Amino acid sequence: MKHPERLILILGDQLDLQSSALRDINPKSDQIIMIESANEAQYVWTHKAKIALFLSAMRHFAVELEKQGYPLTYIKSSPLSIVEVLREQIQNNKVKRLVCIEPGEWRLKQALEALAKDLGIELEMREDEHFYCSRQEFVEWAANKKEFRLEYFYRLMRKRHNILVDREGNPEGGQWNFDQDNRKPYAKKGPGIIDAPASFEVDAITQEVLDWVQKTYPDHPGSLDVFNWPVTREQAVQALEYFVEYRLRNFGVYQDAMWTDTPFGWHSILSSALNLKLLNPREVVNAVLVAWRKYSLDLSTIEGFIRQILGWREFVRGMYYLDMPKMAQDNYYQHQRPLPKWYWNGQTQMACMKDAIGQTLQYGYAHHIQRLMVTGNFALLAEILPQEVCEWYLAIYVDAIEWVELPNTAGMALFANGGRFTSKPYIASGAYIKRMSNYCGSCKYKPEVRYGEDACPITTLYWNFLIKHRDQFEASPRTRLMTANLKRISDEDQKEITLHAQKILNHLDDL
Ligand SMILES: Cc1cc2nc3c(=O)[nH]c(=O)nc-3n(C[C@H](O)[C@H](O)[C@H](O)COP(=O)(O)OP(=O)(O)OC[C@H]3O[C@@H](n4cnc5c(N)ncnc54)[C@H](O)[C@@H]3O)c2cc1C
Ligand code: SF4
Repeated sequence: MKHPERLILILGDQLDLQSSALRDINPKSDQIIMIESANEAQYVWTHKAKIALFLSAMRHFAVELEKQGYPLTYIKSSPLSIVEVLREQIQNNKVKRLVCIEPGEWRLKQALEALAKDLGIELEMREDEHFYCSRQEFVEWAANKKEFRLEYFYRLMRKRHNILVDREGNPEGGQWNFDQDNRKPYAKKGPGIIDAPASFEVDAITQEVLDWVQKTYPDHPGSLDVFNWPVTREQAVQALEYFVEYRLRNFGVYQDAMWTDTPFGWHSILSSALNLKLLNPREVVNAVLVAWRKYSLDLSTIEGFIRQILGWREFVRGMYYLDMPKMAQDNYYQHQRPLPKWYWNGQTQMACMKDAIGQTLQYGYAHHIQRLMVTGNFALLAEILPQEVCEWYLAIYVDAIEWVELPNTAGMALFANGGRFTSKPYIASGAYIKRMSNYCGSCKYKPEVRYGEDACPITTLYWNFLIKHRDQFEASPRTRLMTANLKRISDEDQKEITLHAQKILNHLDDL
């Protein structure tokens, strides 16, 4: 590049040709820059498939930019951080203006601002228009609120974007939320035949990346044996079309269900394509609305799905920027235990954890209830330091980018911010996992046993947690029922539970 007027930075999760960073580009005087940085792969001990997905998607996007005649500098496999590479490029090429979309990671945003200040150049950080809700809109919604609830935000978004509402602004079907209809387990015999997710051939670009990742990061967690993630816009659109045609129909009802060797259930598996910005949430919502009419699908399924995209996804992003950097430090319960080693290799005797972690290592994927009520639930009950848990989630899921990972992990799963946007800690005993899965059938432990050799560690730790935090749970009408159940357990048994829990907590690595 020769002294470009503006340097336009495109990050690995901003792979959108319609992005506002490219809107006013002048190919004669501006230069785009994309950077592969080893630092990003090593910042946390990242799953091989996540590294491969980002690199492959970036390289495919670079090909697309070049095909369209954009001036691109693509820095491959740099040992430096993104900011260090930028510093070099800006200085060597006497760049005066840097343009980018606001990063999905607070740390990088701060670093870019500091770099621009340090070098005395102009930084134009543009709004990420991928989202329905702008940062300013969320700040306005949040103003003067002490606690933040998805439900009210979601209703506002439905009305503002005219989605599943009638002309008067009332919800389609007379209800805003059909969550109660979306919590069924699979049948006793199992989930039956589930249409497999769309599949994609590994092309030469992806193969080169897979080989390189295997060679460069052999000790990183996870496997590359089955790599089936959409890496181009075209593949992402195919994944969406395939989902709405074949898998959406049962998404709602079995959204929370789990079953051994059923890693994807009826889920969409669209999060990585959405988060890399290969897909826009508007096209996902529109495709679902079209499929609803075309295939006469249940409103509860459609609403349940749209709530995730228009509700949760937008909500957690708003909360992330509102609460950073504090969100990353919060530790409401002051939990300090290290993460058990088997989170990184799946070698545990607890069948539910083994399955959820095992599939995570294999694919870089687990669905929401596995993340929230299996690995997340355990981490909260076992009093693990939130920062270690968040690091694991950020490293291990292919769709993990901090703006979405951190609020879900620290805020939702771990209650680390004391319930700023959840009304109660999400905790459950083995009984919940037994109801929603077949895991317990093959487990060494028994979900209904509260202490002793056979006791399910999740059940023991659940009751221990309630005993410890009895006052907190008593105080809220949302959780009082849980302590009411505690009253049915004799004082003697409660003592045994506490003793057994202490043993477990002292030897978490042995479970
Ligand atoms: C502890 C924990 C950590 C999580 N970390 C991430 C993460 O790093 N990245 C990520 O994208 N999601 C994360 N989630 C949310 C959710 O689990 C995933 O989005 C979902 O499992 C992805 O699979 P899917 O595409 O098949 O989703 P589906 O179940 O098919 O849902 C459809 C889409 O809705 C969106 N969505 C659903 N739930 C949420 C949510 N709670 N927050 C934001 N978006 C949501 C996703 O874009 C998803 O693709 C996390 C949840 C928990 C409990
Ligand atoms: S018995 Fe407990 S540890 Fe075993 S699968 Fe069931 S819930 Fe998980």
